[in-house]
Amino acid sequence: MKFCYFQYQGKPEAGLVETVAGKQSITRLLAVLPGSSANGESRASRAITPTPLNEAELLAPAKPSKIVCVGRNYRDHAAELGNEVPKEPLLFLKPPSALIGSGGTIVRPKISERTDYEGELGIVIGKRCHKLAPSEDVRPYILGYTIVNDFTARDLQRIDSQWTRGKGHDSFCPAGPIVTDEIDPWAGITLETHLNGALKQHGNTNDFIFSIEAILQYITAFMTLMPGDLILSGTPSGVGAAVAGDVIEVSIAGIGILRNTVADE
Ligand code: MG
Repeated sequence: MKFCYFQYQGKPEAGLVETVAGKQSITRLLAVLPGSSANGESRASRAITPTPLNEAELLAPAKPSKIVCVGRNYRDHAAELGNEVPKEPLLFLKPPSALIGSGGTIVRPKISERTDYEGELGIVIGKRCHKLAPSEDVRPYILGYTIVNDFTARDLQRIDSQWTRGKGHDSFCPAGPIVTDEIDPWAGITLETHLNGALKQHGNTNDFIFSIEAILQYITAFMTLMPGDLILSGTPSGVGAAVAGDVIEVSIAGIGILRNTVADE
């Protein structure tokens, strides 16, 4: 199943995404929001005239109570920033107020002189989970996968002893375009980031330092994850600066392209 959040007749709605005449389109409004325990049939509540996904005004594809991020989860990225490979997952939070959808504008704050893109696979939680056991299958807790840009004010991240300011500005968490449960990160999926059309990042989930199981077990050992919560799984090497006027496209096969432009405050 694939779904998105979008503006429909002036209101935010959840929409089912299907292929219509070869085009990804929003075909139904979902009355029961994904992440609830309702099954797929009862969610698909009302058919609409199909809207091509690339013409829709997309919103962030999740409504998380929190956004939990893993830093340095690819060896090559840890090395490029001169960091050790961590012994356990390195976590930080982004506030939900940082979310924007695909097509939205990332606003660089005046107080930062260096802002970077970080393309990442996002995991959307579908079921409340707490203290997952090491042997437990985590897949039933996952609603699906999306694409996220962990946009970062690198200079603020470096001068502060924690990363709230460097990672938490409004618009610093572009996510989308959709959520899908039709891809399998365990099989190895490729993520790419293009800056103004030039390839900058090329990574594969097979290169994770910490598996999705390890990440979810680590987080839920001390924090309850709720339906809609968003987990950022880390970025591969190739991070770099983005300035006003830049177009950042993060792509994962089966999810699509998360596309955002950058502007100055
Ligand atoms: Mg990151």
